[in-house]
Amino acid sequence: MKEIMVTGGAGFIGSHLCEALLKGGHRVVCVDNMDNYYSPHRKEANIRDLQRMEGFRFLRGDIRDRSFLSSVFNETDIGPIVHLAARAGVRASIADPILYTDVNVNGTMNLLEMARLHGVERFVFASSSSVYGRVEENRPFHEEMDADHPASPYGATKRAGELICFAHHQIYGLSIAALRLFTVYGPRQRPEMAIHKFTRLIDEGREIPIYGDGSSLRDYTFVDDIVEGIVGALSDERGFEIYNLGNSKPVKLLDMVKTIEKYLDKPARIRWLPDQPGDVPKTFADNRKAREHFGFHPEVEIEEGIKRFVEWYRQAHASRPENAEPIREVSC
Ligand code: NAD
Repeated sequence: MKEIMVTGGAGFIGSHLCEALLKGGHRVVCVDNMDNYYSPHRKEANIRDLQRMEGFRFLRGDIRDRSFLSSVFNETDIGPIVHLAARAGVRASIADPILYTDVNVNGTMNLLEMARLHGVERFVFASSSSVYGRVEENRPFHEEMDADHPASPYGATKRAGELICFAHHQIYGLSIAALRLFTVYGPRQRPEMAIHKFTRLIDEGREIPIYGDGSSLRDYTFVDDIVEGIVGALSDERGFEIYNLGNSKPVKLLDMVKTIEKYLDKPARIRWLPDQPGDVPKTFADNRKAREHFGFHPEVEIEEGIKRFVEWYRQAHASRPENAEPIREVSC
């Protein structure tokens, strides 16, 4: 049986995806360099249970390393690829745009080349709502809307990734879906992302930083719904398509904070700070295309999702010393 390659499979979304694919009877090869954007111990913990499951292989390596990729592709019968490996995070991309370009653009091109040379059946690329930049229009973001004015290097690298995917499709006929993911949350969420960071700071009685006036809107989307969307996009075999994967129900930042307070049963202490470069006022997915093409239908509402996140945080996080790393002042 061919293996599904999941790059970045030890990360937050990747580890959930690998688990779902294995439960669905697929064989999975996870490629991840366990980079230090956040603690590699967390990533080891993410795949610990997967390593006991039949059909799972973990290969530690860097998507920028072409000789590593060549040997993997020469030795493995790869079916589709889900390419999630990236440097994520808006603010950190402003601090190190060269690294972001190297991993997110050059790394993606390396994988496209491997896919072409080895006759890969399907390529699913994790793009981001960040490609839309600062949208002034008062309607959900549609895939046809302008995506050529990103507000951060991170958004620009994701847009570049979509464009090089398109060129490979045009020239070589590679079948590709580029998925614009909208603020994904849930168990194992990256520690610097707002829901995770705020939960931990509130739990520890520390101040949470809020940039701007707290009215910004994010279309938080639960990780199980995202995984279902990725699996749907894998089986949809249109030539090249871009899809929004988002809940389509934006939530105000301060309402998200209130929901965390409710499930932690602790009050938040807020430190108000000015808007940060790269931040956008809102994200709001029009998800009709993904619904029509492969039945994408997010089900987890923010209340339920944060409840599940806090339950996970309490169980896993507090008890594991390796998770006690300092909180970094970056967010996405
Ligand atoms: P994550 O950081 O938890 O996962 C990314 C994984 O990629 C990590 O395990 C990391 O070690 C690996 N990686 C990084 N550089 C690599 C390299 N050079 N070679 C091999 N592996 C490498 O992030 P995530 O939140 O799970 O995001 C997964 C994907 O989804 C990313 O492409 C991200 O840009 C995209 N995305 C995420 C969100 C979100 O809200 N989480 C939103 C939009 C898009």
